[in-house]
Amino acid sequence: AITADELPFTNSFAELPPALYTRLMPTPLPAPYFIAASAPAAALVGLDPQALAQEDFVEVFTGNKVAVRSQPLSAVYSGHQFGVWAGQLGDGRAIVLGDLPGAQGQMEIQLKGAGLTPYSRMGDGRAVLRSSIREFLCSEAMAALGIPTTRALALTGSHQRVMRESVETAAVVTRMAPTFIRFGSFEHWHYKNKQDELRILADYVIKHWYPECAGAANPYKELLAEVTRRTARMIALWQSVGFMHGVMNTDNMSILGLTLDYGPFGFMEAFDANHICNHTDQGGRYSYANQVPVGHWNCYALGNALLPLIGTPEDAEEALDQYRPVFGAKLDELLHAKLGLLDARGGDEALFDSMFQLLQDNHADFTLFFRRLGELELGGSLEADAPLRDLFLDRAAFDAWALQYRARLRAEHSVDEQRRAAMHRTNPKYVLRNYLAQAAIEQAQNGDYSGVHKLLAILERPFDEQPENDAYAALPPDWAAHLEVSCSS
Ligand code: AMP
Ligand code: MG
Ligand code: MG
Repeated sequence: AITADELPFTNSFAELPPALYTRLMPTPLPAPYFIAASAPAAALVGLDPQALAQEDFVEVFTGNKVAVRSQPLSAVYSGHQFGVWAGQLGDGRAIVLGDLPGAQGQMEIQLKGAGLTPYSRMGDGRAVLRSSIREFLCSEAMAALGIPTTRALALTGSHQRVMRESVETAAVVTRMAPTFIRFGSFEHWHYKNKQDELRILADYVIKHWYPECAGAANPYKELLAEVTRRTARMIALWQSVGFMHGVMNTDNMSILGLTLDYGPFGFMEAFDANHICNHTDQGGRYSYANQVPVGHWNCYALGNALLPLIGTPEDAEEALDQYRPVFGAKLDELLHAKLGLLDARGGDEALFDSMFQLLQDNHADFTLFFRRLGELELGGSLEADAPLRDLFLDRAAFDAWALQYRARLRAEHSVDEQRRAAMHRTNPKYVLRNYLAQAAIEQAQNGDYSGVHKLLAILERPFDEQPENDAYAALPPDWAAHLEVSCSS
């Protein structure tokens, strides 16, 4: 086994022109301690998750010690925040250590909350335990749901006090992704009118992650088209599990189409298409329903930044036109799977629409609805339907929809047992509900990390029944009704 000091870091980003980043050292935290590590994430970079709890790894993944081959840096980027051009932002509290090799390609290793950088602006360079637990758990939960995402390797903490609305303590999440380059990384050079840097960044991304674009007649147009498609598919996946990102600013949009930057995210509970998960988002720009058009808007911002490389607005438009059809096809595919439908038929869209209307009218719990729908039997009785039916206040409306749904299932000779198995592989039983995260956070703030470990283990197998963990699939308790999550992190 290797020591943390010997980690085989390389750093391809550090070979780019220095204008794109600043080399710097993380700022140590007092007496760092281990909180958690993800075994599936560790496997991606060939590390033993047990070893991550050792002192040398805790020091390296808190930023207290720099591995011999690491070349720490923070990247510059800009972005649109809530639809408004925000100018320069950058890694204000994230520090890249370098790349580690892995069986599925190399992963960039980044410490979030490791101290001040030249891009910290008014911030303190730190992240609090509360938001770090949320990011750590949700990254791994999303990966287990099969949704493209940055990963979380480890979580460490310190008694160092950090001021937010109240005094909290510091933590560091070790994040991983092939690259953390964002839409805003390109916007930065476009708005500065620096075409050389813009091209260098685009060529770097194409060379490493979109090699198939290199041979296209217009590689930059093809890059925009492929990023647009990936973004559309990612957002269809979000909608399909009720995930709401909360801050879809262009600086939080990954050039690889990965879910990036877990802050005030949420999973839909009582269904409301206009639900806003981020308390700071007064206007609902990033509500559940708005995620779809905002994803497209963000691709436009990227297209605008890439325009000098692409050439004509017509070419950029053509690439961006991929968004709607790709999103539509992916969501349609996902909804068929969620309802256990094997083929696509005329009238399916009407069935989906009436289902969402039913969910909306009754504010039925999103996750429980789809999970229990998998238990529905063709020859069901009122009694057998009760767990599902009882999610609806208007039972008659549910019965009317269920009648249509059963007719549709019979039309394709659906088999109860097969359908249940298939639906349970696509409709999770366990998602990171806010109240679950909150309970684990409060325990952790009292020095007990077992709640974090328990949730991680459950969320690594979201489709498994895990009857012993039924309580973690339950509706939110009354105390959770007033939970608010905001940009404060
Ligand atoms: P976010 O809304 O988390 O995506 O952050 C937007 C910008 O603010 C990014 O440039 C972050 O690096 C920066 N930022 C957020 N919190 C802090 C902090 N505590 N210290 C320094 N920079 C921060
Ligand atoms: Mg961000
Ligand atoms: Mg953030």
